[in-house]
Amino acid sequence: MARYTGPKCKLCRREGDRLFLKGARCHTAKCAISKRAYPPGMHNFRRSRLSEYGTRLREKQKTKRIYGVLEKQFRKYFEEAERLRGNTGENLLVLLERRLDNTVFSLGFADSRAQARQLIAHGHIAVGGRKLDIPSYLVRVGDVVGPRGHKKSEGIIREKVEAHQGRNVPTWLILDPKKLTGTVTQFPSREDVSLPIQEAYIVEFCSR
Ligand code: SF4
Repeated sequence: MARYTGPKCKLCRREGDRLFLKGARCHTAKCAISKRAYPPGMHNFRRSRLSEYGTRLREKQKTKRIYGVLEKQFRKYFEEAERLRGNTGENLLVLLERRLDNTVFSLGFADSRAQARQLIAHGHIAVGGRKLDIPSYLVRVGDVVGPRGHKKSEGIIREKVEAHQGRNVPTWLILDPKKLTGTVTQFPSREDVSLPIQEAYIVEFCSR
């Protein structure tokens, strides 16, 4: 599946907010938002007031960028969210949260969703003991996520788990730091999504 390969900090500057796309660097003074808190481009020093359309568009773009999905795939998630019972906006966020790359990141196996995606694509992650290299796989209740039974994969994940000790793991996941596994105990709910996303705006934008 295609992915964005351009500069990540530019995306944060475009959204005017930290999207935490680069892992550790995002928490340091080197973060581009601290240094250049204005949109990228030559004539963008003054941010004009956004229209209603613009506000909704930016919310959708921000969400896509946080989860690292492109427009076509995002639209598919939206269609699926509409088909499901309940609130479409919440369904959409739950689907995005269930992505394997987000799960790997949430468990602390990677510094960022992009790094999690790379770990998965390079075959370091297994679900239920079997290698799974599809970052968009939607985890299900009972799935056990961990490193592939390979010394190199285990070494990488162990290092990350140790580095992220003390980080909060969402309530829908249980991390076993000794076995290096994470179990999906339930589907995530809206309360589990701590990101500053106003899903109602996305629904309004995508339903036009
Ligand atoms: Fe965004 Fe992280 Fe770059 Fe800061 S360092 S602008 S949070 S990607």
